[in-house]
Amino acid sequence: MSITGGCFCGAVTYRVSGKLRDARSCHCSRCRKAFSSQASAYALVDPTEFSWLTGQDLLTSYVGKHGAGLSFCSKCGSTLCGIFDGKIHGVTLGCVDGDPEIEIGRHIFVGSKATWEVMPDGVVVFEEGPTV
Ligand SMILES: [Zn+2]
Ligand SMILES: [Zn+2]
Repeated sequence: MSITGGCFCGAVTYRVSGKLRDARSCHCSRCRKAFSSQASAYALVDPTEFSWLTGQDLLTSYVGKHGAGLSFCSKCGSTLCGIFDGKIHGVTLGCVDGDPEIEIGRHIFVGSKATWEVMPDGVVVFEEGPTV
């Protein structure tokens, strides 16, 4: 089984031939801006198991300090994946199709979440990043 994903306009699609790992949601102010949302929703992939299917020429990237960045569709703006040192690092869960058979295991930097966000009961929260 492989996992597929794509952007809002459908032009950019990808496949992951392995499993997603370490799904997490970060509520820090940087992630809120980067994901245009209350938090990130992100899981790690093995870069050798990731391949673009369509629309790779439409991708544009923003790379911040320390070599970490995000790639997004220049047509519709969906953020598709994270990159680190020029390699695919992880995927945004919002652009994954269907059930990737993983759940968000931890909510991090909840201590700096937006005032308007109400955390659901029962989720695993960390005030800052976890130690591992
Ligand atoms: Zn798009
Ligand atoms: Zn964050």
